[in-house]
Amino acid sequence: MQKNSIKAHVQDLISKHSEKAVDLARDILQHPETGFREFRTAGLVQQFFDYLGLPHKDELAVTGTRANLQGANSGPTLAIMGELDSLIVPGHPFADANTGFAHACGHHTQIGSMLAAAAALADPDVRENINGNIAFIAVPAEEYIELEYRQSLVEEMKLEFMGGKAELIKLGVFDDIDMAMLTHSSTNAAEGKIAYGSINNGAIAKEAKFIGIQAHAGSAPHKGINALQAAHVAFAAINANRETFQDADSIRVHPIITHGGDVVNAVPSNVRLEMFIRGRTLESIADADIKVERALKAGALAVGAKVELNTFAAYLPMSVNEEFFEIFRQNAEVVVGASNVKRGAPRGSSTDMGDLTHLLPTIQPYATGCTGTVHGADFLVQDYQTAVVDPACSMALTAIDLLSKDALGSRMVDNFQPILTKDAYLELQRGFNRHIIYDGAI
Ligand SMILES: [Zn+2]
Ligand SMILES: [Zn+2]
Repeated sequence: MQKNSIKAHVQDLISKHSEKAVDLARDILQHPETGFREFRTAGLVQQFFDYLGLPHKDELAVTGTRANLQGANSGPTLAIMGELDSLIVPGHPFADANTGFAHACGHHTQIGSMLAAAAALADPDVRENINGNIAFIAVPAEEYIELEYRQSLVEEMKLEFMGGKAELIKLGVFDDIDMAMLTHSSTNAAEGKIAYGSINNGAIAKEAKFIGIQAHAGSAPHKGINALQAAHVAFAAINANRETFQDADSIRVHPIITHGGDVVNAVPSNVRLEMFIRGRTLESIADADIKVERALKAGALAVGAKVELNTFAAYLPMSVNEEFFEIFRQNAEVVVGASNVKRGAPRGSSTDMGDLTHLLPTIQPYATGCTGTVHGADFLVQDYQTAVVDPACSMALTAIDLLSKDALGSRMVDNFQPILTKDAYLELQRGFNRHIIYDGAI
């Protein structure tokens, strides 16, 4: 078959399967699960793989699942991915009433897109024209949240890393993958229907536990050491450093208090913070990290409390693969029209897709069709055609280009210079992990 007729056939197949894929995305929206808890969501993906007759491996990094589609001829292996996890946004209209879990980042649309693409590419006539293999990977835990829960999984030896893709990389799930893509939802209408070429910040995560001494808050506060006041000073000290962050580095430091005290009539002795330190480069993140750590120690020093600091690897900054994006852009233009495909805006957010961009040709384009605020209570998918079906079709057509006889994919893989080998990546990630205790009373 000529490439153009295969592509036309793929477009027809996507339309044919679009209702089923959108229904599945809506089902996931109604049943959100946060990272490493996505058992039901993974089950739905596995059922869909079974329906398509694709063999799959499950329970990868707790909840991940990967199906393999073998093409008719040999060639490189492409991964098309979707992220399984939700956020926690209690006020969201589709939030779980008990847990507050909610899909306020649109990951349910990614799973719909991945499966619609799988449905088209698994068609026997299409498969006949694929030179290489396609892995469909449903990835756990992109949102780097619930650090205490994830540390418990690390302690139980179920994980080493607290983000999904890092753990999958370590497990070897990407060892045979030559190139990877995933489309993420966007609420930025200025980005047309599909946006390509965005950069993201990298990030490290930090947990601070302020330890004071509990005492009666009314009759004997002088006998206590107030861990909440230590945290209060630390917040002020972090803010005092913000003027030193340079615009080009796009530094973001955003702590939350996950435990603020135990009872109101006692001096708080156990206060916990979680925070991200984000930036465009690892150097700028390291610089901000020194300042944040100084600020956290300053809080402990001010009141004579202790602070326990745990630093964790989170995500590497996104590196943009122009060659891959160019192939994707041309296909996206076929699907939604040239005027609806735009260069994406830089993002202050972080993703473990950034990690993959260091190892293999990887892209994360964005699809709109959503309104409200990303990670906010008003984030909603308004148009499932734009949010699920169009990106699925753009990815499936891109897959045809990459794995067709003219070997665009092989050429791209040959041109790619990895920033890190897998071993160097794992060493870098492990190197971020630090544990220190600072005693402000000494
Ligand atoms: Zn998100
Ligand atoms: Zn997301």
